[in-house]
Amino acid sequence: MSPNTLPARPRLAAHVLVRRHLVGEEERIILHDVRSGQLLQLGAREWVLLSAADGTRDVEGIVIAAAREGAHARAPAAHAFLAQLHAAGLLEAEATGDDAVRAEPAAGARPARAPEERGGRARPLEVLPDFSLHCDGRGSCCRIYASILFDPEEAARARALRPDVLSGGARHERAFTPERGTWPCAASVVAMRDGRCAYLEGEGRCSLHAIGGPEAKPLGCRTFPTSFVDDGESVRVSVAAECACVLASAGRPGGAPLLDPRLRVRGDLDERIDVAELPDRAPISPGATASRAELVAWSRRLAAAAPPPDVAAGLFALAAAVEAEGLTGGAIARFERPDPLEPAALGPWLAALHGRAARRVREDAAWRSERDLARRAAQWIAAATLALAEPDLLAALLATPAPAPDRERFYLRAALHGHRLIGALPLSLALRDRAARLVVARALPVAVAAAGDDDPACAEPIALVEAMLRGHGLEAYAAEVAGAR
Ligand code: SF4
Repeated sequence: MSPNTLPARPRLAAHVLVRRHLVGEEERIILHDVRSGQLLQLGAREWVLLSAADGTRDVEGIVIAAAREGAHARAPAAHAFLAQLHAAGLLEAEATGDDAVRAEPAAGARPARAPEERGGRARPLEVLPDFSLHCDGRGSCCRIYASILFDPEEAARARALRPDVLSGGARHERAFTPERGTWPCAASVVAMRDGRCAYLEGEGRCSLHAIGGPEAKPLGCRTFPTSFVDDGESVRVSVAAECACVLASAGRPGGAPLLDPRLRVRGDLDERIDVAELPDRAPISPGATASRAELVAWSRRLAAAAPPPDVAAGLFALAAAVEAEGLTGGAIARFERPDPLEPAALGPWLAALHGRAARRVREDAAWRSERDLARRAAQWIAAATLALAEPDLLAALLATPAPAPDRERFYLRAALHGHRLIGALPLSLALRDRAARLVVARALPVAVAAAGDDDPACAEPIALVEAMLRGHGLEAYAAEVAGAR
C-alpha cells in the first residue's frame, strides 16, 4: 500500500491533539499536530465525521456512524476529506490490540505505577519550606492552559454536576475531546469557552468546586500548582510559578499548605499523582553531564547561597561558570557576585523567543477569541521581546533594578527545590533561559499597559511568562538558541 493510500480503517493519529473551543457561541475544532506544529481548524460537523474514524470502521462505516450523530456526508466527500487529512500526516491505520491504552495518560491523573517503579515508597516528602498558598479564587489558572485533563471518572462526575455545560450531561463528546488522537483514550480534555475551562463561571469560580466541593474537580486541578520530583533522596514537593497566586503568596504566611502535613513519605501520596523521576545523569553543559547525586548536592548548595543583587545576572553568570568549571563551589560564587548582564549576551535569547511568540500570535488570530488570555499573553510577550530588540532599551532595562526582586528570588527558589532546571536542555542553557524569562517578565507590564489591559493575571508577569512558555510550547525557543550556538 502506498503511504499516501488512505488506510482501510483510518483513525486520527496519536500525535494529533483535538481541542474544542467556543468563541462566543461559535464552535471551532482545532487539530494540533505535535510533531510538525501544524494547526488545522475544523467545523463541528467535520469533527463528528473524523471522530467516527476510530480505526474500527471503513469509510462507509464512518459515514453511517457520523449520520447517527447528525453529521451527514456522502461517502466520496468523506473519503476526500479523510484522504486530505491522511496526506497531511494526521491519520494512521486501524487499531491494534494495545490501542485502548496507547495514549499517554493525563498529567496529574496517571494510572498507578508498581511500587518498584515508583522509587522507594519510604522516600521522604520534602516540601518547599516557608511557603503556603493564598488562592485568590479568580480562576487565572483556569484560563491560561491549552489542555485541562479529566480521567473517565472525573469527567462523569463533572457531567453529572453540570449537565448543562455544553449539554455534556447527555453526551460526553459534547463537553470533551480525546486527550490525543481519537477515542478510546485514557483521558479527556474539557472544551474551552473564550480560552476558559467550560466549567469556570463568569466571576472566576470553578462551578464543580462550588457545587461538589474540592473533590469534584479533577486531580490535576486539585494538586495544581504543586509539583513532585523524586530525586533519589527525597520527593521534592514544590510549586510551578505559573499562576499569579503562587507569586503573590511568596513571603506571605497563613495560606494553605502545599501538602497535607500528615503525608510524610512517597507511599502516602495518592497513587494517581504524577511523581517525576530525576534521571540518573543529566546534561549540565553542551558535552558534559553530571550524576543525579551531584545535581542534588549542587541544587542544595545553590539554594543556600546568598541571592545576587540581580537574579537574572546571577543566572547568566552561573551558566558561564557551570560551562567552565562544572558544578563546583566556585561556580556558585559567580552566582552570588555576578557581572552585570550584557545586552548582547541576552539578545539571541530574546530574539528567538520573539520569533516563537510572534508566530503564535499569527496562528492565534485565525481561531482564538480576542478575549482569550493565552492569545493576549502571547501578544504581550511578542510585544515585550520586540521592544527589547532595541539595544538601548534593553540596556536601560538591565541597568534598572528589578521591579520585584523578591518574586524573582522566590521563582528561583521554587525552581531549584522542584529540580525544574534539570531536563533535556543542558543546565547551563536552562539557567540562561530562566534569566531571559525574568527579563521578559520585567518588560511585560509596559506591553500590557500599551495594550490597555488590566486582567488580574497580569499582576504577576513572571507567572504569565512561565505559563505561556511551558503551557503553550513557547519554551521550545531555548532549544532553538542552543542549536544555533
Ligand atoms: S475544572 Fe474547575 S478548577 Fe479545573 S480548570 Fe476547570 S474551572 Fe478550573
